[in-house]
Amino acid sequence: EELVDSAASSRLPVTSPSRIESRWGDTSSYGAKKKLQAWCQLSNGDWALGKVESTTGTESVLSFPEGKVLKFNTESLLPANPDILDGVDDLMQLSYLNEPSVLFNLQYRYSRDMIYTKAGPVLVAINPFKEVLLYGKDYIEGYRRKSMDSPHVYAIADTAIREMIRDEVNQSIIISGESGAGKTETAKIAMQYLAALGGGSGIEYEILETNPILEAFGNAKTSRNDNSSRFGKLIEIHFSSTGKISGASIQTCKSRVVQCAVGERSYHIFYQLCAGAPSSLREKLNLKKAVDYKYLKQSNCFSIAGVDDAERFRAVMEAMNVVHISNEDQDNVFKMLAAVLWLGNISFTVIDNENHVEVVADEGAHSVAKLIGCDISDLKLALATRKMKVGKDIIVQKLTLSQAIDTRDALAKSIYASLFEWLVDQINKSLEVGKLNATGDQSVFLIFMALNLLMYKNSFEQFCINYANERLQQHFNRHLFKLEQEEYIQDGIDWAKVEFEDNQDCLNLFEKKPLGLLSLLDEESTFPNGTDLTFANKLKQHLNSNPCFRGDRGKAFSISHYAGEVVYDTTGFLEKNRDLLHMDSIQLLASCNCSLPQMFACKMLVHTENTMGNQYRSSGADSQKLSVATKFKGQLFQLMQRLENTTPHFIRCIKPNNSQLPATYEQGLVLQQLRCCGVLEVVRISRSGFPTRMSHQKFAKRYGFLLLENVAAQDPLSVSVAILHQFNILPEMYQVGYTKLFFRTGQIGALEDTRNRTL
Ligand code: ADP
Repeated sequence: EELVDSAASSRLPVTSPSRIESRWGDTSSYGAKKKLQAWCQLSNGDWALGKVESTTGTESVLSFPEGKVLKFNTESLLPANPDILDGVDDLMQLSYLNEPSVLFNLQYRYSRDMIYTKAGPVLVAINPFKEVLLYGKDYIEGYRRKSMDSPHVYAIADTAIREMIRDEVNQSIIISGESGAGKTETAKIAMQYLAALGGGSGIEYEILETNPILEAFGNAKTSRNDNSSRFGKLIEIHFSSTGKISGASIQTCKSRVVQCAVGERSYHIFYQLCAGAPSSLREKLNLKKAVDYKYLKQSNCFSIAGVDDAERFRAVMEAMNVVHISNEDQDNVFKMLAAVLWLGNISFTVIDNENHVEVVADEGAHSVAKLIGCDISDLKLALATRKMKVGKDIIVQKLTLSQAIDTRDALAKSIYASLFEWLVDQINKSLEVGKLNATGDQSVFLIFMALNLLMYKNSFEQFCINYANERLQQHFNRHLFKLEQEEYIQDGIDWAKVEFEDNQDCLNLFEKKPLGLLSLLDEESTFPNGTDLTFANKLKQHLNSNPCFRGDRGKAFSISHYAGEVVYDTTGFLEKNRDLLHMDSIQLLASCNCSLPQMFACKMLVHTENTMGNQYRSSGADSQKLSVATKFKGQLFQLMQRLENTTPHFIRCIKPNNSQLPATYEQGLVLQQLRCCGVLEVVRISRSGFPTRMSHQKFAKRYGFLLLENVAAQDPLSVSVAILHQFNILPEMYQVGYTKLFFRTGQIGALEDTRNRTL
């Protein structure tokens, strides 16, 4: 029964610890103004809008459209906005900024296919999971001419380009959201706009065509998203001084491991190849169906509803032509893919009672040898033995079954990872061709990163991604909160300091040396006897005093991320972090008479020499290289550094349901994502602050001529004050700082109108 009594309603927001609510809920004025409509929370957690019929003591009686009448604790009610504010396109315009009002406003728009809404400076995009008629030539033209101004990705892209040209500062568009929230689509839409405006050289077409390739090789189907990207991507687009696209480059940031669970697939390209390769290619690769490969069979999921893998394969081949990958290179790419698949089918037989093994020389082994271009005997040796240096001698040690399987899988993974890196290199070479004049070019960066927080079974991969998100969140915080406040404080204006979530503690937990998560992980990874359990225990021993950390039972631990607490399971952490490829495997690749494996081996050797070369030479035939976590951190720092020097524009993608369904809006799910990314706090700050600012000089110069008295001899500050007085700008609408004037939203508008009329 929905009838809520006062006891039950004590569970409602006032007593429930809602971080955001307590901070920006405008509830104090509610009683005084005696609004007729109010939000109340039903027993299922959803908010409903009701009419307040009567209030007695601490209880209020509300009526609902369907004729229901319910009782609520008065304090638990939240004020509703007047009807004329229904569906405003910027949340800043809401009179009451409580959670239900925001949820309702977004839902109101979403149900009318208005999937974009501004939250102050941030664009919120709700995934429609269906085609919406908001894109294409007419819309692009509309935003370019500014005849359209409702919130849109196009509007963000337009602002980025204009500010790039006007301020000569690099811009970034940062697109974030959970898996399946729409980041990839949004980036494509933004690129469409940039391409339409800066097009002409044909390079924009190439940039868009990199998508099918990178998606095929970098994305996989998961249970939550049919097209989940497994890497962070930064696309840099260069513009010439005339505003035309002159070149581009792509950087990826990848935590290299992917394991798939039931209902998930491996990377798309494997299924596409199996389904779509023409017969001549099939013959060359000795290609079978996807079901015949162990790596693809594991999860028992081969297709995606509504997706034709064969068709997609043709699109990938076409895209490879567009980015100038030669037919010969394409053949080599497919050979490497087939080699990875066949590697998974290689099996071993146990040859003694110590569980040592030998490679079975069947179709799998023969196919791999042929595809990578090595002797089958070399392949057998590399997978079943390991050379060790003992004193001055090199001895050959046989591998046990589990060691051999690990060696085989590590080889497959590193061929795939090298192939991905190689492809990105090729794409970048192709995109550089059009780059006419590198010096003086401005750039627009497009970045998107997966925000996969709050997953149930969190492994090493999520650990890396969540760490990256924590960094990105700090960037967001810094720009939108800190810089804002610092500017007020620096300029000496009266500003009631607004608290904001700072995640530095959590970042310290990851990055502190020597007692942070990453250092401890690397340390344990170098110990030959280190295991996931010793790692977990070490964390508990050293980090338990950190407020963001909690050691859990057995191999588990929890981290208090900015978006909430996440539990991790250390199973597999050390192996994935080491990501060891033995020297024997690298040497095998180096000995191949096919160009790609040779090139991969070369790169791996250079890497090994650079990072741990001396140790490698002195300690034997086992190679040690940079750990995955350390490499990931390095890439992340590079990325953050580039971001620091840009003007950021933020787009937050929201997934309205977990079933990829259109017209389905789950309040709880949306709210959780809004809280996660701090959207509500941003609106509150932007609204309560003074978002428009101008230096005394600029203000005096811009509006001084409107003054009735002659003030030519006066200093800019006096001129400014005279303008403010003459135009009757109310004292609560502005602040005078040491160097700048700060205005509430809307104030400059009136002055600009007068100026335009006078000019
Ligand atoms: P993410 O990159 O955040 O994991 P995607 O961009 O791949 O998510 O979006 C998941 C799916 O949602 C897409 O495959 C597409 O079907 C749908 N989608 C996302 N954005 C839009 C949009 N603007 N219009 C139509 N469908 C969309």
